[in-house]
Amino acid sequence: MITQETKKELLSAYCEKKDVLIFAPHPDDETLGCAGVIMEAKRSGKKPGIVVCTNGDGFVTAASVFSGKEISALSPEDFLEVARARQKDMLNAMQILGLSQNDIVFLGYPDGGLARMFSTGTPYMHQFTQKNCTYGLIMPDYHSLMFDVPAPYLRSAIREDMIELLQKTSPREIYVTHFKDGHSDHRECFYLVGEAVAKTGFKGEIFAYLIHSADGNWPLPRGANPQIPFEAQMIDGIQCPAGVSWPPDERRPLRYDEAEAKLKAIHSYTLEMKLASCYIESFVKNEEVFWKINDIEILQKMRPSEM
Ligand SMILES: [Zn+2]
Repeated sequence: MITQETKKELLSAYCEKKDVLIFAPHPDDETLGCAGVIMEAKRSGKKPGIVVCTNGDGFVTAASVFSGKEISALSPEDFLEVARARQKDMLNAMQILGLSQNDIVFLGYPDGGLARMFSTGTPYMHQFTQKNCTYGLIMPDYHSLMFDVPAPYLRSAIREDMIELLQKTSPREIYVTHFKDGHSDHRECFYLVGEAVAKTGFKGEIFAYLIHSADGNWPLPRGANPQIPFEAQMIDGIQCPAGVSWPPDERRPLRYDEAEAKLKAIHSYTLEMKLASCYIESFVKNEEVFWKINDIEILQKMRPSEM
């Protein structure tokens, strides 16, 4: 566990103003989508912060590979080991990009459960970890650190955490996964951030990044290539990436050395590298792409009830 001194340091770091706040549903999304944003912020003297919504503890194949067990034999402890490994990997990745543990907030909500949590009533019970409240294994979760008690797995609890963080850090730019992403946690993260933004009267800029397109083929072209841009392709008559405009609103160039640093940070994710190296390396291009969210309140009204 962390020392009292580290706890004090983290608490004060969480309350510092930030220029850029990146919301990642799972440990790795921040690197895949926004490594360049982090490096650019550091280079230009801006203060970046990362908020990781879940512990990444619902990754079934990773739990199986990590423990050497059949999927049917996995226990809650096997999933907790995945959470521990992913948090550790993330800290290593962020160090490569120039951040320290003080720049990262771990909220500790359930992987695969963001869209399943009710607003009130009985907290959601995570089917894999059997947890029903926030936790952190290497770094403590935000709520336990702030209030000495974990938060229940309720939508209202994560929304409150996000509202508090926005109020404390007053960022000028927010980055969050796109509402057209193919993963329900990623879409829900967008809507939760949207609610927090609306509640706090945030007036800065919001950029959405895409990790899994609904068609399942993003990112293209496949493989790490720091010398070429992302590109859209027609696959079976459907544009990949599906559901989003192309070209994207913002194409931010990555220098060759930055793309190399991004690849190195991606390689810190040991479990993902074992299972999906070609997929995660494909986020290394000579740019990062974003969609500008101009009216989050309109999007709020469009939030489907079932996701
Ligand atoms: Zn993710």
